[in-house]
Amino acid sequence: MTGSLRTISDRVRDGSSSAVAELDRCLERIARDDGPIGSFQCTGADAARERAEAVDRRIAAGEDMGPLAGVPIAIKDNIVSRGEPTTCGSRMLEDFHSPYDATVITKLIEAGAVPFGKTRCDEFAMGSGTEYCAFGPVHNPWDLDRVPGGSSGGSAAAVAAELCPASLGSDTGGSIRQPASLCGVVGIKPTYGRVSRYGLVSFGPSLDQIGPFARSVEDAALVLQAIAGEDIHDSTTIDSPAEDFTTSLHEPIEGLRIGLPSEYLDAHNDDAVNAMVHAAVETYRGLGAEIVDVTLPLTDVGIATYYVIGPAEASSNLARFDGIRYGRRVEPAAGEGLFELYARSRGEGFGPEVRRRIMLGTYVLSAGYYDAYYKRALQVRRLIRREFEDVFRRCDVLLGPTTPAPAFRIGSISDPLAMYLCDRYTVNANIAGICGISIPAGCTEVDGKPLPLGLQLQAPALGESTLLRAARMYEAATNHHEARPGSNA
Ligand code: GLN
Repeated sequence: MTGSLRTISDRVRDGSSSAVAELDRCLERIARDDGPIGSFQCTGADAARERAEAVDRRIAAGEDMGPLAGVPIAIKDNIVSRGEPTTCGSRMLEDFHSPYDATVITKLIEAGAVPFGKTRCDEFAMGSGTEYCAFGPVHNPWDLDRVPGGSSGGSAAAVAAELCPASLGSDTGGSIRQPASLCGVVGIKPTYGRVSRYGLVSFGPSLDQIGPFARSVEDAALVLQAIAGEDIHDSTTIDSPAEDFTTSLHEPIEGLRIGLPSEYLDAHNDDAVNAMVHAAVETYRGLGAEIVDVTLPLTDVGIATYYVIGPAEASSNLARFDGIRYGRRVEPAAGEGLFELYARSRGEGFGPEVRRRIMLGTYVLSAGYYDAYYKRALQVRRLIRREFEDVFRRCDVLLGPTTPAPAFRIGSISDPLAMYLCDRYTVNANIAGICGISIPAGCTEVDGKPLPLGLQLQAPALGESTLLRAARMYEAATNHHEARPGSNA
């Protein structure tokens, strides 16, 4: 057991442990347990040890770094850092070493944390199972035959298997909340602009946000606190007053208005998922919250809208990986020219799902189709935003499932559309730019094994304090977050 972030930082600060010792504890666990899970692409041990030694030196010099001092935090493989390669789960970037650190890495280091390693993800963060990682899939620690969710599956699985106390992921349409749900950990998709994207390899820059995974709401809040804030390197970051997300965590939620959208209790959801939502409603009622019945009819068009906007942005972002400016270069054969160099480099560098997104995106942006698809998707985006604004006049947070079903078997979903529908309940938060969290909400037994279910809460833009307080109160009332893979099998 690696302990809560406060326990770790307390022992690092009082000298009974050290940042190096905490890092070594994680590296040992990874060496021992990660083989069958495969959550790490690399551990970056050398760079991480240097960062940990620097923390120990700062502590020895009398600096008080607060609750992240010496806490090892694993990083998704699409966030650049100087010490280790960044592959984005793609052959295209197999040998890519960034010359700079992402802002979130710099901020974690400033806060005394030790960012380390790279966790596996779907190629360029496109997927819902981490099966589309060019270097091998990640396995769910609760059942190794199943996916951990995606695209930040490595970050979620590593925290669930207690290989590290916290990690970072990115969420464009659900890639933090969905794997958090399937792995039984906490995952936060912050408000768009809350956290700098500088150094996150772009997928859909109007949708992407970096956020934390941890085993409790408080731990996740502490990491979010450290990485949030305006950044001159990312003009979309919000200049909001510094907030302490942890101060109000333990305040009662009596009178809090919790909206229950009827669309979230869909007949196509797994029965256990709907039962979990009903039980959560009762828990919140017991805590004194007011449950408000609401409707969000545009839930149904979220996936269609996302799969126009996301691929459109991806197709133009990924144009830079052409074998010349960035990425794998495959030399043309004799007699061939520049076009073949591009085509071969991109054809060999990108996997099938990334190619599909590039084709979709190029299609919806092309002359003659732009108005019918891309422009219309932007109009629907505005309607989705407005729908949330309206509903948040009647309630403070929204409650529902994170995913329609628990973790599926590796290789069991071959239809891309079926895969896309895993994000039915998560994409609209990205489309609207609001914040969301997935928290452990108990298990359902499938084939004799317990599989975690996640409860999703959503709050308006910059509503993280309320979101986290509501999540923390559920956690305290249920203790579902204490269930670990194997412990109740
Ligand atoms: N699963 C979604 C997709 O494939 C979301 C990915 C993400 O949030 N990065 O696009």
